[in-house]
Amino acid sequence: MSEKIPVQQVEPEVVEFDLYEKRKKIYTRAVSGFFQKIRTRVLWVLMLGYFLTPWINWHDRQGVLFDLPARQFHIFGVTFFPQDFFLLAWILIICAFGLFFVTTLFGRVWCGYTCPQTVWTMVFMWIEEKTEGSRNARMKLDKSPMSKSKFIKKFNKHSLWVLFGWLTGLTFVGYFTPIRELLIDLFTFSAHPWAYFWVALFTGATYLFAGWMREQVCTYMCPYARFQAVMFDPDTLVISYDYNRGESRGPRKRSADPKAEGLGDCIDCNLCVHVCPAGIDIRDGLQYQCIGCALCVDACDSVMDKMGYDRGLVSYTTERRLEGENSHIMRPKVVGYALCMLVVITAFMYFAGDREALGLDVIRDRNKLFNQTPSGMIENIYTIKVINMDQTSHKFEISVSGLDNMTMIGRKTVTANAGEVRSVPFSIQVPPTALTEQRNTIFFKVQSLDPNYEAEKITESRFIGPVSK
Ligand code: SF4
Ligand code: SF4
Repeated sequence: MSEKIPVQQVEPEVVEFDLYEKRKKIYTRAVSGFFQKIRTRVLWVLMLGYFLTPWINWHDRQGVLFDLPARQFHIFGVTFFPQDFFLLAWILIICAFGLFFVTTLFGRVWCGYTCPQTVWTMVFMWIEEKTEGSRNARMKLDKSPMSKSKFIKKFNKHSLWVLFGWLTGLTFVGYFTPIRELLIDLFTFSAHPWAYFWVALFTGATYLFAGWMREQVCTYMCPYARFQAVMFDPDTLVISYDYNRGESRGPRKRSADPKAEGLGDCIDCNLCVHVCPAGIDIRDGLQYQCIGCALCVDACDSVMDKMGYDRGLVSYTTERRLEGENSHIMRPKVVGYALCMLVVITAFMYFAGDREALGLDVIRDRNKLFNQTPSGMIENIYTIKVINMDQTSHKFEISVSGLDNMTMIGRKTVTANAGEVRSVPFSIQVPPTALTEQRNTIFFKVQSLDPNYEAEKITESRFIGPVSK
């Protein structure tokens, strides 16, 4: 006889929870140490480079100026035109492979040491520490009710943040418009409205990203943070906690023998957590929020020194080393990226070396297809642009060919300074009998007249007129 299994209706338990988690403010503790010193030096180099570069003049012109209206990029005496943008593509490819190569070898060294978000946040944190005090003082200040002293501290901090953001914005715009004039124009309220807009935008973005959002930019906004894990392998340098050595963790007296007490080397002081700008505990393993700043390494090393233990409980290491194996620097991925870099650098050098220093643009007047002069000649109007991309000024001759009995009316020689675009209006007249088609191909040629400088450029254009029967 078969038995029936009793079935009972059970109401599903509904558990409601909020998918939105409010950001918990991170109060970082200042720490000094070997890696902090490196980061501070890198910060100085990058900051000085960023803020001073637009103020350096080169041959009576701002050394680095991306002149968008004139479509010319000046970089210390070399002028790049839109025709040179393919070089920019090569530079970007080199940077991409460089980043892949460095990340595979050294992990998130870019994020921890040189990324603008990291560098600017370091400055903003330093301002915070100077105006509001240490980690504990800041936590206490935030919990305390508003008072005159709290207001002054907060006001000072935010004013300095805005000032630094403004300097950042001004400098950024100063790469695109001459910075000396920009500064005067901004203060005399005679700058272009777009200049005010961009300075304000970059001031606001710097204040927001480095002052308020900080680690959230790296965790939620940066795409590089997400995809770089694919470049990691067991030999990539990462910051890691030595679990076998550290556990079991626990407080103890300095004089105590940890082995006798069944403890590892981690004294559970949480200093590595307090210094972390990402607000994570490195002892929980490698996490995507970790930017590889090595603050926890410096913090833990200082604790190990105080306890009289060996340094390196938290250290730069590799997954392989943590497993007791040997790490390798030369591996297929690294060699592959290095070879790719070599190929693109060679290609870049070839194309940069082959770059023509003379450009020629011919613009045909489209308002009227052609004119007929009182003498019966057919006339087309052109504007010729001679682009001198060389470092010195040169004299050029302009000529045209392609049809019989052509007459050029306009200047046949032109002098263009280094990096200058000279526009020359021109008209070409042809007797109607010379035209066999409505659209005729003609060739403009510009040629250097300087005996020490050989350069010529030929460009095709059209001559339009009635066909004689
Ligand atoms: S875990 Fe360490 S290396 Fe990673 S972000 Fe935090 S302090 Fe920096
Ligand atoms: S700083 Fe070092 S000893 Fe202190 S909790 Fe972190 S890992 Fe443990």
